[in-house]
Amino acid sequence: MAEKYIALPTGVSERDFDAAISEFRAALGDENVYTEADRLAAYGKIMLPVPDAEHAPSAAISPTSVEQVQRCVAICNTYRVPVWPISTGKNLGYGSAAPGNRGQVVMDLRRMNRILEVDADLCTALVEPGVTYQQLYDYIAQRKLPLWLSCPAPSAIAGPLGNTVDRGVGYTPYGEHFLFSCGMEVVMPTGEVLRTGMGSLPNSNTWQVFKWGFGPYLDGIFTQSNFGIVTKLGLWLMPAPPAFKSFVIRYDDEADIVAAVETLRPLRMANIIPNAVVISHALWECGTVAKRADYFTGPGSISDAAVARMARDRNVGIWNLYAGLYGSPEQIEVNWKIIQGAVKASGRGEILTAEQLDRDPVFKYRSDLMQGKMNVKEFGLYNWRGGGGSCWFAPVSQARGVEAKKQLAMAKTILDRHGIDYVAEFIVGWRDMHHIIDVLFDRTDAAQTKAANECFTELLREFAAEGYGVYRANTAFQEEVANLYGDVKRDVNQKIKRALDPNGIIAPGKSGIWV
Ligand code: ADP
Repeated sequence: MAEKYIALPTGVSERDFDAAISEFRAALGDENVYTEADRLAAYGKIMLPVPDAEHAPSAAISPTSVEQVQRCVAICNTYRVPVWPISTGKNLGYGSAAPGNRGQVVMDLRRMNRILEVDADLCTALVEPGVTYQQLYDYIAQRKLPLWLSCPAPSAIAGPLGNTVDRGVGYTPYGEHFLFSCGMEVVMPTGEVLRTGMGSLPNSNTWQVFKWGFGPYLDGIFTQSNFGIVTKLGLWLMPAPPAFKSFVIRYDDEADIVAAVETLRPLRMANIIPNAVVISHALWECGTVAKRADYFTGPGSISDAAVARMARDRNVGIWNLYAGLYGSPEQIEVNWKIIQGAVKASGRGEILTAEQLDRDPVFKYRSDLMQGKMNVKEFGLYNWRGGGGSCWFAPVSQARGVEAKKQLAMAKTILDRHGIDYVAEFIVGWRDMHHIIDVLFDRTDAAQTKAANECFTELLREFAAEGYGVYRANTAFQEEVANLYGDVKRDVNQKIKRALDPNGIIAPGKSGIWV
């Protein structure tokens, strides 16, 4: 192994890498190309249950403009050097800022952080990769624009572009983020700049308002993929509603997940409840603030009795369904009556409103998220077990009570086998649910790390055997996940990759796609 670099890209000689690095320096300036171990530490930090070495970068480069990105891409083509683009690089539990494979050069786009446009009439924005949710929130607040964002939970430091291209979700009516994106600019592996949708039409002013453009709709192929480097993203913002009412339905029995989902689905599908609802398990609610050792010191995963005790202490349900109503007070009133009627008819659960939970920090946190107000509280989950290990397992489920129940039972059985706690929530789309499970473990403990790795593998395989797949995968398991989706899907992805990126320079291996 070369001493000069902490890693080298696969198949690239040290001589060629030296040449590439000096060309990156000429293009970006010495100070924007890092190869020293200490400067690279932040780009090699992972939370996944695999050795750091598997995701060690060879270098990091930090362009500030589209032209610089193009120049980097040209250098990569000359020397066959692979780059792994990141936007804000806060993809914690999915790979963080580290490359998907050892030796790849991280292309850090954080310094491209201009908010290019916010249109308060059409409620659209156009942003660069480095723009954070907090930055966009502050921009809107400072100008007193009547616009709301949708952001993922720990989002202040993450950004809309990275989150959307990885198909992340939030908690408002615009919570399915890719669905509410409109128009991309992409530096292709050849260095050409593509604008999707209406963006390719000279003088068009409809890039951020009409998604489809003409001919094949391309935006999708730039999400969870490695077909280009996205340098601009259009997104729709929500007009601030005149009124907002948030509430929680608490369920005290784990089996009530069936009633919760069955009560919710018709309301969600009819848009009576318009937002991406969360049904959060007690351990998720308490895990951000409670200490595991205060409730459970035994071997294996935490007992149901300990979780119930914690839920009582913290005044949360075993399941907590958070939803919001948006619109005029009159509209809200009508929908509120329908919801109350539906919950009463189900015979399960207790509805509590913002007025009743005035000072409850857990409720406020959820209520804020449903209004696109961000914080980083979810990171508190990392203290539950401590030791910096996190790996999201996020299978998709039909929005059906029996399906939720089945996934819950499967997940708990598998986690239990490995002594890992069930820390989870369901995020409800229109017909689907993302069952989000944080596989938390102490990464400083070799036995726990091994258990987490085996656990994750079993979760993937056993869920797949029942026809369940994940909506997003961390970089340690992307290959395995890609295999689950079958040969034809892999083959088609590869054909596109070969056509667009014959030298395989952009994020090889992302979502299991190679040249
Ligand atoms: P966030 O900080 O919002 O969680 P990241 O910036 O880490 O997200 O991006 C998540 C993932 O999306 C990255 O690991 C990378 O695979 C992909 N990605 C991020 N930015 C880009 C981009 N500009 N072009 C292409 N892919 C990207």
